[in-house]
Formats: sequence, C-alpha cells, structure tokens
Amino acid sequence: MTPDPFRPDLSRLGAATRLVHGGTQRSHHGETSEALFLTSGYVYDDAEQAEATFAGTVEHYQYSRFANPTVAMLEQRLCLIEGAEECRTTATGMAAVNAALLSHLKAGDRVVAARALFGSCHWIVSTLLPKFGIEAEFVDGADLAQWQAALSRRTDLVLLETPSNPMLELVDLPAVAELAHVAGAIVVVDNVFATPLLQQPLKLGADVVVYSCTKHIDGQGRVLGGAVLGRGKWINDVLQPFIRNTGPALSPFNAWVLLKGIETLALRVDAASRTAATIADVLARHPGVTRVWYPMRADHKQQALARRQMSAGGTVVTFEVAGGKDGAFQVMNRLQLIAVSNNLGDSKSLATHPATTTHMRIGEQERARLGITDGAIRLSIGLEDAPDIEQDLRQALCVPPARMSGLAANGP
Ligand SMILES: *Cc1c(COP(=O)(O)O)cnc(C)c1O
Repeated sequence: MTPDPFRPDLSRLGAATRLVHGGTQRSHHGETSEALFLTSGYVYDDAEQAEATFAGTVEHYQYSRFANPTVAMLEQRLCLIEGAEECRTTATGMAAVNAALLSHLKAGDRVVAARALFGSCHWIVSTLLPKFGIEAEFVDGADLAQWQAALSRRTDLVLLETPSNPMLELVDLPAVAELAHVAGAIVVVDNVFATPLLQQPLKLGADVVVYSCTKHIDGQGRVLGGAVLGRGKWINDVLQPFIRNTGPALSPFNAWVLLKGIETLALRVDAASRTAATIADVLARHPGVTRVWYPMRADHKQQALARRQMSAGGTVVTFEVAGGKDGAFQVMNRLQLIAVSNNLGDSKSLATHPATTTHMRIGEQERARLGITDGAIRLSIGLEDAPDIEQDLRQALCVPPARMSGLAANGP
C-alpha cells in the first residue's frame, strides 16, 4: 500500500480532481476503485515486527480503532480538500465535535461559543462541559461587540458554526479568530453548512474544522460520519491520544461509502447551491412567504460578509410563512416532492420545521433569541430539477380556493 510515485502533486490540482483522486492508495491488485479493508485487526510477519510496530520504529497498521487503510484514504482526501495538515475521522459528526472539545479542554478552562449551534453541540457546551468544571459563555455570533466582550478574558476554546442552522446567520471568521487568539483560545469551526468547497475556515484564521460527514460529504443519506481537521501537531499530540483511547472510530465500511460520496461533492454542492439560490429568489417573490434567509441575497443582513468568506450561499434556504406553526405545517403537509425530514445535505430535497423538531428542546426563549419563529421552514435543497422543486413549493404555498372562498373545494 504505497501511493503511486508517478502521481502528480494533488495539492496543486483543482478541487474536483482532489475529490476524485486524493488519498488513494492501491493495493498490489491495482484496483481502480478504493479498496474496502473491512478488518478490525492486522497480522505481523513475526513477533519482532509486532514489537517494532508497538515501539514505533516500524510503520504497520495495528488495530482499526487507531487506524485503517480505507479510513486513512478518506482522511487524506479530506486533508487535501480542506488544505489541512492532518485529519481524523469519527463515527458521527457529534463524535468529532466531542473529541475536538474534550481532547483540548480541562477543568478550569473557559469556552466561548456562538449561541446558534447545532442542538447537540449546544448541549455539550451548555450541559456537559460545566459538569467537568469548564466554564461556558454564549454570544450572538453575528455581534462582534459580544465576541469582543466575551473574549476580553482569558479563554481556551471558541466554538462556532457559520452559516448557522437554521437561520443562516454568519460569523465573521477572521475578526473572531483574531480576538480569540489574543485571548489565548483555539477556534473550532463547525463547517457543515458551507462544506469544504464553499468556505475554508483554516484559511480565514480557524485552528480546527469539524464536519458531520453524514451531510454533504455522503450526500446521499446513507451513513453517519465525522471529521476533525487541523495542524499536524495538534491532531497528533492532542486529538489522536483521545481518539485512540476513547474509541469513536469510523467504520471502514462507512469510510468507503464516504470516499465514493465525496468523489461527486463538487458536482452536488454546485448544483444544489445554484438551485437553492434560485429557490430563495422564487420564495422571496412569493406572496405566501413573509421572509427568506439565504446568505448571498441582497436582503441578508450579512451579504457583504457572505461574499468575503464564502464562494456561494450553500444548499439550505430558510423561509417563513404567515400563520405560525399551523401555517408552516399546512405548507409542509402539502409538499409532494420535498420530503418532511430533520436531516439535510441529501440528494433529496427535505423540509424541516425547526421549532418543533431540531430546535424543540432549546425552549421558546432561546428560539426567540435565535430568531427561529413558529412559521419558519428550513429547506435542504437536493439534486432534483430546479423547476420541479419550485413547482412543489408553489403548489404547497398556494392557498386552496376552498379556504379563500369558503366553498367546498370540489364543487360549484
Ligand atoms: C448534523 C450536524 C452535526 C452532527 O452530526 P451527526 O453526524 O449527526 O452526529 C453537527 N453540526 C451540524 C451543523 C450538523 O448539521
């Protein structure tokens, strides 16, 4: 298992090329597609080789909780696409976030996080970390003054998501990274919504990037997975011992599915982002829609920031209809093509009502702070033809004549 010595330096080639070829290591069989090494352990030529492997003087796979050839191909490919020195993958996105935080932090440390976090990330910061004596403070991610105030004290770690779920609020990455570094903190960015193609946090000042590979990287709703990327020294000295000993390892089978999924990431994210931008415009003009949130639109209050740090608006559009929860449920229940789901980043378009599902547990007060109204619907745009998605939304948003006139729907 060695990389082909005649291969070009992939880091100099385009993103789509890296997504197809990055990290590939062929076995002596010369297979075209990445091999699936579905093995938990490895054997040695002799006892001496085993001893040397454990002493670290010989490189040899030991155990798939530590490393596996299929998983290593995925990690190498993710490094190449992110421009990171090192990567470790995990069984889920949450295992990646948990490992990044718990490997770095200790009792007495302090974390500052943007309030608009994925629900389970919010739980780790607000509920789990304080149990271990780690102080946590939340700020409004879009408000630099709040970051400045929170980071005027010594801080050890900053966690944020940009664009955020589900209101697509942005955090100014270079500005927050500068404040965080002065306060002594590393910056961990959950880059799920932007994907590694539309935003590269490491180039904008972040120290660590985490992914739920479950979303766009698989992109076809099949497997769970996570990834942590950063500098070699931090990954090897801080993260690796934590992962090795606590065991959030990604299954080689899921790594293989993700390797095949990521080959089409550029095609999928590009197509879905273009459709999402079109759908955002359609929704904004529709009389049945009261508001639309989409990062690159002129009516997004951080459009200039979106243009500075993202290359496209992404695959998620959030919109609001009148009538609160009832209004939103009526629209969602009329959808025929778009499925009701709490997932995102799938090839199938999905609609979510955050207030009663993904963001139900955070409570009414926190939802109000995040601007999540009862009429808000999050749309994850898939790979269907844009006119079909548009048509489905138009028929769902159209108030049936029966309701408008008070007459039975099917009769004069
Ligand atoms: C889905 C998601 C996660 C968690 O990932 P899992 O793979 O479901 O564990 C974390 N952050 C964001 C932004 C997500 O969308």
